[in-house]
Amino acid sequence: MRVAVVGAGPSGLYATDALAAAGHSVDVIDRLPVPFGLVRYGVAPDHHSIRSVRNTLEKVFLEPNVRLLAGVEVGVDVSVQELLDAYDAVVLTYGASRDRSLDIPGEELPGSIAATDLVAWYCGHPGADRERIEAALAAATSVVVVGVGNVAVDVTRILVAPDARLAETDMPQHVLDALAGSSISEVHVLGRRSPAHATWTTKELRELGEFDGVDVIVDPDALEMEASSAAHIESDRVVARNVEIIREWSSRDAHAAPKSIRLHFRARPVEIVGTDRVELVKVERTTVDESGAAVGTGETVDIAAQLIVRSVGYRGTPIDDVPFDPRRNVIPNDQGRVLPDAGVPIKGLYVAGWIKRGPSGIIGTNKKDAAATVASLLLDLADEPVKGGNGIIDLLAAKGIQPIGFDGWKRIDAAEQALGASRGRDRTTLHSIEALNSAAKS
Ligand code: NAP
Repeated sequence: MRVAVVGAGPSGLYATDALAAAGHSVDVIDRLPVPFGLVRYGVAPDHHSIRSVRNTLEKVFLEPNVRLLAGVEVGVDVSVQELLDAYDAVVLTYGASRDRSLDIPGEELPGSIAATDLVAWYCGHPGADRERIEAALAAATSVVVVGVGNVAVDVTRILVAPDARLAETDMPQHVLDALAGSSISEVHVLGRRSPAHATWTTKELRELGEFDGVDVIVDPDALEMEASSAAHIESDRVVARNVEIIREWSSRDAHAAPKSIRLHFRARPVEIVGTDRVELVKVERTTVDESGAAVGTGETVDIAAQLIVRSVGYRGTPIDDVPFDPRRNVIPNDQGRVLPDAGVPIKGLYVAGWIKRGPSGIIGTNKKDAAATVASLLLDLADEPVKGGNGIIDLLAAKGIQPIGFDGWKRIDAAEQALGASRGRDRTTLHSIEALNSAAKS
C-alpha cells in the first residue's frame, strides 16, 4: 500500500515506522518545512534527553519506502479528499496545537498570553508572534502562570532559568537575548485544586527547586488536605511523591534569593485587571469537594503581575472533509478508525496521537497509540486491492508546490549547526519560514 501520514511529529513518525516495517510505502506530509512536530516545537529546549528522541525518529526517513513531503499544508495546499483519492490510506496525526482559554474578563489584554504561544516562541516556531511575546516579556517583573501541569512547569522554569543553562540549548539567539534581558523576579503558579491534583510529573516538578538563585515558596496551608485530596495521595504513588517534594519546599524558610517561584493551590483566576495592559490578576480561593472538583469560596486576593501565561491545556482543531468532536476537540474514532456521526468508519481514514485521544501522555505514549491505529489499518485493508500511483507528487507539481524532502531537512540541519557554531553553540534553531526554505534549497 501507499499511505499518507499527515503530521511529522512523534505520533506520525511512530505510525510511519510501523507501516514501513510492515512493508508499505509512506509519504509523511507536514505543513512546516521541517519534521518532528512537538519534539522540535513543544519539548522544552533545555530538556536535552527528551529532545534527543529526534535522532531515533529521524531514522525512519532512511527507510527506502518512506518520503518526507514537508512544507505542504493539508486543508490548504491539498485536501483530505485528494489524499484519500491518491493513497490507499491516510493517517491524520496533526496534533492539538491550539490553546484553551480561561473565559474570564481581561484575557485579551496585552500581557495575557497562552503557554502555547510562549512555547512556540522559545522553541523558534516560524508562526510565533515575536512582537507580542517579546513586548509582554520586556514589561514584566512579576508573572502569573495558570495551571499545574508539565507545560506550566516548563514555562516557569524557562522564565527563571540561569542564562548559562539556556545558552546550552538550541533556542534562537533573539530568544536567548530576550530572556537574558528580562527583569522577571517572581513567578506565581496557580493550581485551582490541591497539590494532590496537580498533573506535573515528579522529575519535572523537582527541577523547579534546583536552580541557585531561585527560591520555591509554598503557602503552608497548601498542605492541608481535604478528604478527596488525601484519598488521591493514598492511591497514587506519583502524587504522594510530588506532594512530599512540595511539603519539603514549604518547610524551607530562607527566602533571600533574587528570584522566586511561588506555588499557590486552591487558587483560580477570576479576572485579569489593567487599563492598557495586565496589571493584576484577581484570584479566588477555592476548596476541593468530595468529587475532587474546585469550588469557589467567593474570597479573592490580588496578585500584581504584568504577564499572565495560561497553561491550561492544548486543543485540537477540525480539518475540512473530516468529522470533529467539538466537545473533546478530537476527531471521533474507534481504535484509530475515523467515525462520522452515522457510526460507519470512513474507508481508508485513520487518526493517531493527540488529535485522536487529546493532549495527554508523554512522547513515548504515542508509540503505542500509533501502533494501535496501524494495527486497525492493516486489519481493515489486508484484502483490498492497492491503488498504485505516486501519491500526490504529480498533483503538487501541477499546483506549483515543491515539497521539501529529507535531503532538504538535512541541509536545514547542517545550516542550524553552522549557525550555532558561529556563536560557540551546538545548534541555533532557524526560526523564519524564509530562512528554513532557503536553507533547504541551498
Ligand atoms: P495538563 O497536564 O492537562 O495540565 C493542565 C492544567 O491546567 C491542569 O493543572 C488543570 O487543572 C489546569 N486547568 C485547566 N483548566 C483550567 C481552568 N479553567 N482554570 C485553572 N486551571 C485550569 O496539560 P499540559 O500541562 O498542557 O500538558 C499536556 C501534556 O503534555 C500532558 O500529558 C503533559 O504531561 C505532557 N508534557 C510532558 C512533558 C514532559 O514529559 N516533560 C512536558 C510538557 C508536557 P485541573 O486538573 O484542575 O483541570
